Amino acid sequence: MKVYILTDMEGVGGVINQSQTFAGEPGYEQAREWLTLEVNEAVQGAIEGGATEILVLDSHGVNNVRNFRWDMLHEGARYIQGTPRQDYVHLIDESYDGLFQIGTHAMAGTPGAVLEHTMSSGSWVEMRVNGQLMGEIGLTAAAAGVYDVPFVMVSGDDKACAEARSVSPDVECAVVKAGISRQAAVLKPMPEVHRLIREKARLAMDKVKAVKPVKLESPVEIEVRYFRNDVYEGIREREGVRKVAPQTVIYSGKTVVEAWRKVWGG
Ligand SMILES: [Zn+2]
Repeated sequence: MKVYILTDMEGVGGVINQSQTFAGEPGYEQAREWLTLEVNEAVQGAIEGGATEILVLDSHGVNNVRNFRWDMLHEGARYIQGTPRQDYVHLIDESYDGLFQIGTHAMAGTPGAVLEHTMSSGSWVEMRVNGQLMGEIGLTAAAAGVYDVPFVMVSGDDKACAEARSVSPDVECAVVKAGISRQAAVLKPMPEVHRLIREKARLAMDKVKAVKPVKLESPVEIEVRYFRNDVYEGIREREGVRKVAPQTVIYSGKTVVEAWRKVWGG
């Protein structure tokens, strides 16, 4: 069985402050180690559950994405790092049996969610996909759904897990912390978080045949409302890219993967 693991950083057990998620800021070096350890638990749990091939994407950040500590990675998987990449869930295809999302966060505006945002806390207000508000968790699940890969496991705070359940009701959730506000949470100790992630990853492997992939109706429209004028002003209209309101752009494609390539293409 093949598993694809997409990772982020805001939903790692000990991460509560934005500075922990920016390279060069205080706390980042420690937080990237914590992320790597959580990835290792997910890989180990997946293997215990029957995974034979695992690909992990280091997906936090925009430029020069390089969060995993290479010298600490579990030897049971392969790992993608760096930018640019064409696709949000890069190199996923129909051969995969399940999608995990590790270290996730809730969408922009979610009350009490640790480091909530959608794509960019500095320049995005919100995203709608086919008219529905969506965050990164839903987008990732839908992108995997294009290839019929079900979203079976998630880790993050309690709000991220609730959002994941709204996207894929039977997803296994490892709640690693309980959000109080954007930069405050009730934490669990590291050993408990690690046990939880490993256990949920193992259990998720039993579900890959039963959980339905997240499928969107075609064509897909991704509507992004930007906060910063300079981002909006830099986007040029062309086929599948329409400016529809001040600071709002609609990107469209046959699938969410095709539409997303236009978002990243500016
Ligand atoms: Zn992130």
